[in-house]
Amino acid sequence: QATVRENLYIVSEYARDYYHKTLLNSEQGKAIGGTYFKERGFTADTIKKFELGYNPDQWDAFTSEALRKGYQLEFLEKTGLTIVKEEKQFDRFKGRVMFPIHSMSGRVLGFGGRILTSDKKAAKYLNSPESDIYHKSKVLYGIYYAKQSIAKEDNCYLVEGYTDVIQMHQSGIENVVSSSGTALTPEQIRLINRLTKNITVLFDGDAAGQRAAIRGIDLILEQGMNVKVCSFPEGEDPDSFSRKHNKEEILSYFNENAKDFIQYKANLLVEEAAGDPIKKASTVRDMVESISKIPDTIKREIYVQECSRIMEISESVLYNTLAQILNKNK
Ligand code: ATP
Ligand code: MN
Ligand code: MN
Ligand code: MN
Repeated sequence: QATVRENLYIVSEYARDYYHKTLLNSEQGKAIGGTYFKERGFTADTIKKFELGYNPDQWDAFTSEALRKGYQLEFLEKTGLTIVKEEKQFDRFKGRVMFPIHSMSGRVLGFGGRILTSDKKAAKYLNSPESDIYHKSKVLYGIYYAKQSIAKEDNCYLVEGYTDVIQMHQSGIENVVSSSGTALTPEQIRLINRLTKNITVLFDGDAAGQRAAIRGIDLILEQGMNVKVCSFPEGEDPDSFSRKHNKEEILSYFNENAKDFIQYKANLLVEEAAGDPIKKASTVRDMVESISKIPDTIKREIYVQECSRIMEISESVLYNTLAQILNKNK
């Protein structure tokens, strides 16, 4: 089994080199992939650092070259980079710019590939399938590049996408990782938990981002970590925001707008309930559910007081609700 895994790493690292060279050296790669990244504001250094690439818009450009070089079809197929159908071999990624996904120690586990056209029928991002080396629920995009900075800053920014990570790095903010479109998992949070107890969630300024941030909060609290949430103006994400501002401006925006989870969530819920008593009752319960996830009883008490203030509910009612929830979950 160990040798199968090692072979998948070897194939994945060959693919990374192939896509990267294709981006930098081939006519199609330069004209299409290179132009795309340039328009996004990625510098040559950034492209090199993140080992970004391009796979041509052909049926089997990568696969045929890999086979020619002697890589075995069995392992190409097991990484998902090659699809075998009726004895023919095809590339999974075609005409896409490629983002290698690295492990904590820098090995290539899989890829995300972004389409370049605005073709609404095709998925914007395509990812490697699960394999013996790629388990999407257990990886965080960017962790290899971020780990030192996360420990040093004692904080980790959590964003939604590949380009958010890359653009923030380019702006000089390196303690940032992405769940890359999958719903945040306990395993992903555990990776961060080894490096810092503090997470600042920076999700997109849209309804989907807001929902994802709310969902992530309880999972982070359960691991005894501190969560802040910083929201963006409608339509902005950390990538687009970072392109418009310098490092100092970005960091001061985060510092001014990052709210402790309790304020973020309570304010959001209060707004949603806006004067509807039945809705308000259920939002209070929702808030207390979050507070009940906090393992530390002193912190829990502080959050009950804060929640009481923001939601204008007496502390004793909150404590009763908390006791009910804790009993139920025993
Ligand atoms: P871009 O700036 O390149 O348009 P983004 O990162 O802002 O991309 P979002 O639409 O905000 O993209 O989605 C966030 C993340 O979710 C993406 O980076 C990607 O990892 C994942 N994602 C988005 N669309 C898809 C899709 N169709 N299939 C799979 N994953 C996706
Ligand atoms: Mn989004
Ligand atoms: Mn986005
Ligand atoms: Mn974006």
